[in-house]
Amino acid sequence: MFDKNCIFCRIAAGEINAAKIYEDEHCVAFRDINPQAPVHLLLVPRTHITSVDEHSKLEAESLAALLRASAHIAQQEGIKESGYRIVINSGADAGQTVFHLHLHILGGRTMNWPPG
Ligand code: 5GP
Ligand code: ZN
Repeated sequence: MFDKNCIFCRIAAGEINAAKIYEDEHCVAFRDINPQAPVHLLLVPRTHITSVDEHSKLEAESLAALLRASAHIAQQEGIKESGYRIVINSGADAGQTVFHLHLHILGGRTMNWPPG
């Protein structure tokens, strides 16, 4: 549920400061500290789940809430019309560095494909 050693649990709980731009009962969004695009947000579930790999803990209600929140945030941040990318890194090859499930929401520039 809450991992006191997890930075995103602590941000979600308000114990560590972050530039929060959205929150609801399921999730919290804040600006990435090292942005890779003009708009770079992180959206995290309030519950501690290490990654998509921990699939037994993923609940349909929570996943739907994350995607609904993403669409809401894209509109709020003014990237709905221009487009945006949602990224979830899972494990070493993907470059995951924080082990609390998070969606990167990136926009404000043209994205490359395939991703690096
Ligand atoms: P990952 O590589 O795990 O998919 O992404 C972790 C992201 O969290 C990185 O983009 C990194 O810049 C961001 N990040 C790490 N620590 C903090 C922090 O303390 N505050 C904020 N706002 N972002 C963080
Ligand atoms: Zn956590």
